[in-house]
Amino acid sequence: MIIDCHVHLNHYADEEFDGLSTSLSKLLATMRRNRVDQSIILTSYKVSPGRPSMRQVVEAVKDTPSLHVVAGISYETVDAAVVEDLDDLLAAGLLKGLKLYPGYEPFYPCDPKLEPVYDLAAKYDVPVMIHCGDTYSPRGKVKYSHPLNVDEVAVDHPDVKFVICHLGNPWLTDCMEVVYKNANVYADISGLVLGDFTDRFEAYMRRQLQDLLVWGVDPSNVLYGTDWPISSMESYLEFMEDLKIPVKEREAIMWENTANLFKLPRFSETSTLGSLFAKR
Ligand SMILES: [Zn+2]
Repeated sequence: MIIDCHVHLNHYADEEFDGLSTSLSKLLATMRRNRVDQSIILTSYKVSPGRPSMRQVVEAVKDTPSLHVVAGISYETVDAAVVEDLDDLLAAGLLKGLKLYPGYEPFYPCDPKLEPVYDLAAKYDVPVMIHCGDTYSPRGKVKYSHPLNVDEVAVDHPDVKFVICHLGNPWLTDCMEVVYKNANVYADISGLVLGDFTDRFEAYMRRQLQDLLVWGVDPSNVLYGTDWPISSMESYLEFMEDLKIPVKEREAIMWENTANLFKLPRFSETSTLGSLFAKR
């Protein structure tokens, strides 16, 4: 079984987005081709011609059991009305988590304005994913997206689970420390490349990920994700295949940890017996 905890439907460049339903079909076809059973779609913090709103995405996938939604939240526009909207969707089980984009927007995760967001996460026991590390756009400001910033919110909110996205790349050591130290912090391995890995970079990243696990990061706090369509699902699966880790750890990373953390149904799209194991 494979669960991708980090995909997008939007495209960073508005002109490259070919519409929500086309993008959705592409995602499902890519999942099928790669035998990926479920994916979590992260909506953007912005709404633009290339970025459908959270409501649009929720509506579009609500009858597709293999797809789930995590709500992208804008620091700039979050207010009581936004929080109420999120509260409704969380209560209805239509959102599996929340996502913040520091770096893309200039704020630190510990900003008091975000307290209502963390309260919501605690109330519904859903994780808060935090963009960390490099920003795809050179307009981002990376002091805000350093993984060490997650330590502060994790310590101050022990009842909330956090996910450092992209292993905080390039600050992997810092990410490692924050995940190692805080039982309520996880990390996803998505978005380490644009498109496909080059051989040298793939070998380098594989070594880094192996080191991280040897160093003491609990494998149950590491999540498989790609950042599709920015990174390719094919190259990520190849990357994982050649990783030298025990089978149990690989299973945990490929789907179990994500299923537990986001409380996903345990069914396999690609297995013919999948429906027999459906536990919703
Ligand atoms: Zn992403």
